[in-house]
Order: sequence, then C-alpha cells, then structure tokens
Amino acid sequence: MRRISILGATGSIGQNTIDLIRRDRDAYDVVALTGARNVAQLAHDAKDLKADVAVTCHPELLDDLRDALAGSGVEAAAGDAAICEAAARPADWIMSAIVGAAGLPPGLEALKHGTTLALANKESLVTAGPLLLATAAAHGATIMPVDSEHSAVFQGLIGEDINAVERIIITASGGAFRNWPLDKLKTATLTEASTHPNWDMGQRITIDSASMFNKALELIETKEFFGVRPDQIEAVVHPESMIHALVGFNDGALMAHVGPPDMRHAIGFALHWPERKPLPVERLDLAKIGQFTFRAPDLARYPALGLAAEVMEMGGLSGAAFNAAKEQALDGFIAGQIGFLDMAEVVERVLAKMSADQGLQNAQITLDNVADTDKAARRLASDLMQEMG
Ligand code: NDP
Ligand code: MG
Repeated sequence: MRRISILGATGSIGQNTIDLIRRDRDAYDVVALTGARNVAQLAHDAKDLKADVAVTCHPELLDDLRDALAGSGVEAAAGDAAICEAAARPADWIMSAIVGAAGLPPGLEALKHGTTLALANKESLVTAGPLLLATAAAHGATIMPVDSEHSAVFQGLIGEDINAVERIIITASGGAFRNWPLDKLKTATLTEASTHPNWDMGQRITIDSASMFNKALELIETKEFFGVRPDQIEAVVHPESMIHALVGFNDGALMAHVGPPDMRHAIGFALHWPERKPLPVERLDLAKIGQFTFRAPDLARYPALGLAAEVMEMGGLSGAAFNAAKEQALDGFIAGQIGFLDMAEVVERVLAKMSADQGLQNAQITLDNVADTDKAARRLASDLMQEMG
C-alpha cells in the first residue's frame, strides 16, 4: 500500500485528489489530511479514508475538529506547526494543495523527508523555487508538477533532451473577462470575477485567472521548475482550454498536450508516474470540437503578464514580493476595498518600491528571507490600498 498525505485536502485540488484515491481505496494508506476552515469536510474525509491524523491550520477550530472526529480513532491537531508536522510524517506521496504562500513551509518539510511531492501549490515555486529544488535534490525527493500546464510540459519532455528545447508555450483560457471591453474591466465585481468559463477551481485562483495573475505565476513557475530562460517562455490565449501547453524543439517541432479541462488528469498523472494508469476523465471527440483557436494576450488587458516578465528577469526574492503583494491585493478585492484593475496597480507599486529599496535580486533565498519579504510586501500593499481606498 502506498502511504499518502494531502495538504489542502478540503480544497478543489484536494477534493479531486480524494476522488481518485476513493476509486482505488485499497491501494492507499492515508496518513494525514489537512485543511483550514472547512472542518466538517476534513473530518468526514479523514474518517472515511481512515487517516492517521487530520489537521486544521486554525487553532481556534481544534475543538470543533476533535468533536467531529470523536470515537473515530483519527487524531486531531491544529496550527501551522501541526501542518508541518503532518507533512513530516513518513509518506510515499504528498499532495501540496494549500492555496498561497502558506503552502511553502509544509512542502519543504515534506521534501526534507525524501517523499514525492505532487506540487499544485505554484506559490512555492514562485516564492522560493531555488530553495525548493535544492531541498528536493539534497534529500533525494521528487517534485511532480500538478498545475495542468506544467504537467503538460513535463509530459512533453519525457524522453527528450532539455537542451533541444527552444521554447515553452503555456496556454491561458483568458478567464472570465476575455471578451469584455477594456473600459468595463474596472467595474468588474467579485461575483463576475469568481466565475471561470472552463475550469472549476477555488475562488482565489479563479479570480487570478480573470486578471491573469494566475498565468503570471505560471510563467514564473515554468522558469523555476524547468530551468529555462525567460525569453524561452510564452503564454498564448486559447479559449477552449484543451491544449494545456506546447514544447517547441530546435527542429521546429511543437509537441502539444491535449486533454479535457479536468484537474484529475494532472493529479492522476503525478499520482501514478512513472506509470500511466486509466483515469476517469472525458475522452475528447476532436471532430465534435471542430477547432482550437489562439490569440496573443493583450498586455493592456492583462498587466500581470508584464509584471511576471519583470520578476523573471529580476529573480532572487522578487517572486516572494510579487506573490505576497498579489495575495494581499486579492484579499483587498475580495473584501471590496479595491477594484479589479487596482490589484495590478498595487502589485506594480510594491514591486517597484521593494526592488528600489531592498536589492531583492541578490538576496539569498532562505525560508526566513522569503518570510520577511512576504511580510514587508503585504504591509506595503495594505498601506497602498488604504491610500487608494
Ligand atoms: P482552494 O481554495 O479550493 O483550497 C485551498 C486549500 O488550502 C483548502 O484545503 C483550504 O482549507 C486550505 N487552506 C487555505 N488557507 C490555508 C492556510 N493559510 N494554511 C493551510 N491551509 C490553508 O484552492 P485550490 O484547490 O483551487 O488551489 C490549491 C492550490 O493549487 C493553489 O496553489 C492553486 O494555485 C493550485 N492550483 C489549483 C488548480 C485548481 O484547479 N483548483 C489548478 C492548478 C493549480 P479550507 O477549505 O478548509 O478553508
Ligand atoms: Mg494552471
């Protein structure tokens, strides 16, 4: 039996992972499940899958979790440290699906124990890519990409020489506002931004898709994970969301990964790799689909992409500042404090200020430095939002 843990089990990726596990229940020994606010779901899944331990990051919810688990034999724990402890419990495969920078410390903890880390939490790579890869290398751990584009690139590279790669193209649906007139964007509401045309995902990544901050994170993620130069990475708008990424080689060939927009493919690929096993995803009928379309992303509509290019050039701790400012600005938009287009303005101003003041580029990427940069960027972003509001 394979021992597995799921960090962020109650979220969209976590629930899709559990769906796959449940279909082949006897193959897995579930060690730890973690969540945040949704204690009822966490307890339900922990009991159903007979996990050793269930952890919420919120200490004030520990009693609720204990009550929900009473009599089941599943251990309850709470707090950020308890999540890291859960990640350190021996497991063969750990899904990293916490949303935001909070996913980094437990992901690192898991890697220190030599596990295979299925990485949905793109923020880990954006904030601390070199640290993550070095930790994996030092402990003989493996990182498997779960973001659909990066899983697609990974699959396109199997059996290939990375030196023969000329370019990597990741696709973007264009999000909720891809067909909106530009001048209407500043009035976009939370409800409008929280509806994705193709993918069913958590609220934060859905809004990040509308602003393309998600694609911005993914461009940086591509650079960090595959070790290619920024000028080799492109994003193209592909409204059908069926081609997830393409790898371009030095002979002009483009290898495309095609599949339905269902995260269970990328999760299942990471779960079974190096084998391929049948997965419960739709089989595409190409004749019925008829056509795939593409267009260049409009930088005026999606300023996040220009900011990603800056971060890729800067390197160092700029990804940590970028991500934290983005998370804070997203909180501000969700709370109704700032408008949809203000998010990019906040991030741009935080990046400009921090790169001028603090020499972000040359700093060493340690967990402490990342945490300090994260804090400073969030503080700056909230001051700016106060000024703007
Ligand atoms: P969700 O918001 O649906 O789920 C997030 C999970 O993290 C939940 O289990 C949540 O708990 C938990 N959580 C939230 N805050 C914290 C915290 N501070 N500490 C610990 N746990 C926390 O997100 P998604 O599943 O959509 O996304 C998860 C990650 O995967 C993100 O990094 C996202 O970018 C990435 N990803 C997601 C895709 C998707 O299809 N959804 C596609 C590609 C990448 P609770 O719900 O109990 O509050
Ligand atoms: Mg993606």
